[in-house]
Amino acid sequence: MNESKAICCFLPSRSTEKMEMAELHAHLNGSLSSRTLHALRQLQNSSDSEASGDSWKKCEAIINHGNERTLDECFQLFSVVHSLTSTPTAVSKATDDVIEEFEEDGVIYLELRSTPRCIDGVMTKEQYVEAIVKSIRKANISRNILTKLIVSVDRQRGLTEAEENVLLAVDMHSKYPDIVVGIDLSGHPCKGNIEDFLPLLENARSSGLKLSLHCAEVPNVDEVEKILKFEPHRIGHGTCIHPNFGGSEKLWNMLSKSGLAVEVCLTSNLKTKTIEGYEKSHLGPLLEQNIPVILSTDDKGVFATTLSEECRIAAETFSLTRMWMCEAMLQSVSYTFTTEDEKNKLVHSIHKFMNSSGCS
Ligand code: 5GP
Repeated sequence: MNESKAICCFLPSRSTEKMEMAELHAHLNGSLSSRTLHALRQLQNSSDSEASGDSWKKCEAIINHGNERTLDECFQLFSVVHSLTSTPTAVSKATDDVIEEFEEDGVIYLELRSTPRCIDGVMTKEQYVEAIVKSIRKANISRNILTKLIVSVDRQRGLTEAEENVLLAVDMHSKYPDIVVGIDLSGHPCKGNIEDFLPLLENARSSGLKLSLHCAEVPNVDEVEKILKFEPHRIGHGTCIHPNFGGSEKLWNMLSKSGLAVEVCLTSNLKTKTIEGYEKSHLGPLLEQNIPVILSTDDKGVFATTLSEECRIAAETFSLTRMWMCEAMLQSVSYTFTTEDEKNKLVHSIHKFMNSSGCS
């Protein structure tokens, strides 16, 4: 992974095949394409009060903006999307489409994450998770992409909800150990006290769930230190850890020595203005320090991106070769929340691709 400054030759050397990729940081409701949002609207029908009439017109304006969405619109879109995934059928449709689109992009392994939601009289949190699991199970049989589920805890929604979600995740993990594999801590990075959540997350870990925690999206030296000491399996974003990005030398050293991988979501960071430009992003110091990075989309629908686009941006910005990118994908596989057998199969598949495209 030291050839990060090598000459840029990201284009395939012999083949036009899509690169085989692993996506480890994708929020389900942030990943819905405009096509899916429109289909969900049809499914929901105008009889539903939550997204009807004027409210739907506003939603449509945001959806149709596509690449031109402003930052505010990106965030408004989360609540729009939530209003459209408010039944088990809609949640299943959303999951089906997201898996299909990642597969079309060349993703062979996907870890989807989502916050269980209940809608009074319509859907319990269990039904929400079951709907996702059902779609994943179907796709794992019929598609050339392996998908797992990470249950999210939204730090903005308080401790009672967090407790509920962790208990549900533990329960679902024991019911579907091949699909429900981890816990994510996400939601507004300025809300909630991290110390309140750590004991819950520890319980999840001791029940066999893996942990990926959003960390350092905004500068917060104290909190980042607590998260790094807690040693989750991976961290999301890790934007403000380097001293030049609102972190500190101490934190940077801790991260460097930890062996933790950082899930880097460049377009999301740019559009939410947590980085000033791709070339000025924290990916530069991460590569220089040889810290494992996992290129990811975060919310491919909301931020109008794809994983291949994130790889292209990283490659062009930091002169990364196609060989580097394939090795980065192999490294991503080593950080997946899968079994050894599944990891070996993914590695084999990527090696095969590397051989066939002259990348080995
Ligand atoms: P869902 O969990 O409903 O499937 O996906 C949307 C949710 O993921 C959002 O409501 C938010 O809690 C979380 N999320 C999506 N993108 C980000 C991000 O960039 N940072 C954080 N902290 N949370 C996010």
